[in-house]
Amino acid sequence: MKSNIQICKKCLYPSTHPLGITFDQNGVCSGCIIHEEKNTLDWKFRLEKLKKILKRYKSKGNNYDCIIPISGESDSYFIIHVVKNILKLSPLLVCHNKYFNTQIGINNLANLRMKFDCDILFQNINLNITKKITKHTLMEFGNIYWPIIAAQKSFPVKIALKYKIPLIIWGAHQGIEQTGMFSHKQEIEMTKRYREDHDLFGVNEDNLISLDNDFKNDDLEQFRYPSFEDIKSIGVRGIYLGNYIRWDSVNQHKLMIEKYGYKSTSLSRTFDTYDHIDCFNYMNLHDYLKILKHGYSKVLDHACREIRYKRITREQALYLVEKYQFNKVENIPLFCKWLNINLKSLNFVVNRFKNKLFWNEIDIDKWKFNGISLLLKKNKLKKKNVKSVSKYFIKNYSLVKKNNNRYIYFGKGFKD
Ligand SMILES: [Zn+2]
Repeated sequence: MKSNIQICKKCLYPSTHPLGITFDQNGVCSGCIIHEEKNTLDWKFRLEKLKKILKRYKSKGNNYDCIIPISGESDSYFIIHVVKNILKLSPLLVCHNKYFNTQIGINNLANLRMKFDCDILFQNINLNITKKITKHTLMEFGNIYWPIIAAQKSFPVKIALKYKIPLIIWGAHQGIEQTGMFSHKQEIEMTKRYREDHDLFGVNEDNLISLDNDFKNDDLEQFRYPSFEDIKSIGVRGIYLGNYIRWDSVNQHKLMIEKYGYKSTSLSRTFDTYDHIDCFNYMNLHDYLKILKHGYSKVLDHACREIRYKRITREQALYLVEKYQFNKVENIPLFCKWLNINLKSLNFVVNRFKNKLFWNEIDIDKWKFNGISLLLKKNKLKKKNVKSVSKYFIKNYSLVKKNNNRYIYFGKGFKD
């Protein structure tokens, strides 16, 4: 056990949180402290402030008023709902094809196109280059999501420049929601720096070009973020709705189910039924790499969020983390086939990223987990005590096996 890792007295986040976290004199983390702001801010005033900011972006001609980056899950529905129905703007939706698409994610995208009646631009980056970069970032950094996040964050900015639409609207800021990196009142906006330092964990496109690979500048062009000069010439800015609207993604998803028929489903490694359901790998291999590197997995993020909204207690949260964090990592054979790598090689690569801070090698290839949940007192909660949690997480779609054994690429059409 590593006693030098501090864990928040209110939630379960450790001092080793990869986004960076601080603690006050009572041992409460910056994420919990900034979350409390949500209960004190005048949100009516903040929404009016946002409307004033956006007035100048209302297009006078036929152009779109703003860009909204979307995917087949998460907060896409809610952001479009707010932008169209509350802010009365006409958005252009942009969507990067991450290739690991699930049937439910594609269904949600198709439904979104019909219900919101918006134009959508899709980006399909060369599949071979995507695989080549995925393999490289997996080998070098234990990260299979780098190409997806790099492209998801740069594509909207490129379209903003190309179509001369200077406003991009994002949902919540992860650094505010998880670790309280900024106050809502600072009204932080999208920056190239945050994308590189936090979204991409300090690895930008140019860092990928090294002597031992054959990447060319052209290979990385589609992932590259536009230059500061280009961004300035159009005056592109990216704002976060979470600074102006009291963010609560669980209640927002419930509303989207009611209003627009959003589909949600259960996943193997968390109790949350809304997050990352559009991807075969985020809550599986990507999540497993997270617990190897950081000593906790996504279920702990979900649990911390739920503690802060007071939907569960800290003890219930810990129970849920222990219940889910080592559940089966699904869809590995599918990933191996996609990347043309065998299971043995994948295991070898993945195990290299076990962080010694959270994993002790007790014998050759035998490891003992010493991660975040084990740093807290052993939990004695009975199962029935977490039953009440399920009322917040609706499941209205079940993953049918026959439709759930291949990645769904755009452009091939789909059948429900
Ligand atoms: Zn906390």
